[in-house]
Amino acid sequence: MDHIPVSGPWITQKEIDYVTDAVTNAWYSNANMYHERFEAAFARYLDLRFAVSLPSCTSAIHLALLALGVGPGDEVIVPDCTWIASAAPISYVGATTVFADIDPITWCLSSDSFAAAITPRTRAVIPVNLYGGMPDLKAIRAIASAQGVAVIEDAAESIGSELGGRRAGAWGDVGVFSFHGSKTLTTGEGGMLVTDRADLRDRVLFLRDHGRMPGDRMFRNTEIGWKYKMSSMQAALGLAQLERVDQLIARKREVFSWYAEDLGDAPGVTLNAEPAGTRNSYWMVTAVLAPELGLTKEIVLQRLWDQKIDARPFFHPLSSLPAYAHSPQAAAARAQNRTSYQISPWAVNLPSALNLTRDQVHRVTRTLREWVDSARQSS
Ligand SMILES: *Cc1c(COP(=O)(O)O)cnc(C)c1O
Repeated sequence: MDHIPVSGPWITQKEIDYVTDAVTNAWYSNANMYHERFEAAFARYLDLRFAVSLPSCTSAIHLALLALGVGPGDEVIVPDCTWIASAAPISYVGATTVFADIDPITWCLSSDSFAAAITPRTRAVIPVNLYGGMPDLKAIRAIASAQGVAVIEDAAESIGSELGGRRAGAWGDVGVFSFHGSKTLTTGEGGMLVTDRADLRDRVLFLRDHGRMPGDRMFRNTEIGWKYKMSSMQAALGLAQLERVDQLIARKREVFSWYAEDLGDAPGVTLNAEPAGTRNSYWMVTAVLAPELGLTKEIVLQRLWDQKIDARPFFHPLSSLPAYAHSPQAAAARAQNRTSYQISPWAVNLPSALNLTRDQVHRVTRTLREWVDSARQSS
């Protein structure tokens, strides 16, 4: 039995050629040539003015909060179910994390729960395009702008997704992306911050280079900053991947269509949603199992791993994690965020790597169907 990976990239000769060129030629006066090409192409892809390449999405969120002036005493709202990287930078800047509930259909931030979580201290919201799905960013943006709350759109998992014809990452004051090796478009490790706001772009460029303005040749730092840069080899890899992004997204959608073919009619199994007006790039095919089946994510994962099928738990509510055990906001979230606590225990991410074959997906879905059928007979 071969091992089936949960995620992984699609690398071709183009990527190898670009990285080889970068390591050979991107030095001296050409040191930034791949950053410039990657950033310009990325901004064009999103139809935005600015893109800044960074070492990770985590650093992009950190810089976005800093550039927006978020700090101690401020509150920032995140959906309860997301990777902790969406929220950890709120703690880096000394602000308070507030956990809002998710929507039962999209599994993304609920606009009602977001609205209810706003207080006079709320400075920003970080909606997350979970597993490639899109939250109702039209509503979230309208609520945020009426309340003077900045929007940082965490598009780490959603390159190529769309809402109302506008691409994921282009909905906020700032958008952030991850190019971690598990993501649809990868640079190994890496990230991007995008924005239309020149003030935020300038502040980000300054803060990410130890408090120096771009072009400063006197090394006279005017503030303590951070060092958050991508290497030219990574930028070259990213550029090659971006030039193939339609192919990458088409493959993700194809993988999802295989699962939908095999599991779409299975009673008690719900896969990722693609509501009207949205396009889902399906970073991770995800199955939510009906609680009546009694198949918790722990049981399903252990059985899949036993069959050499790699899979992951749907994100645990952040408010349930030991990392937030001492947070009063997490305690409030545990009592309030019903949908997060209803869905998360019963959901798993299924293998979604870009190199998956139809046969491998058959193996996963056959196995899963057997368990679901026998659980239904015994329930
Ligand atoms: C992967 C991911 C991140 C973090 O990306 P890094 O590049 O690893 O810092 C942030 N948010 C979400 C939703 C992610 O999935």
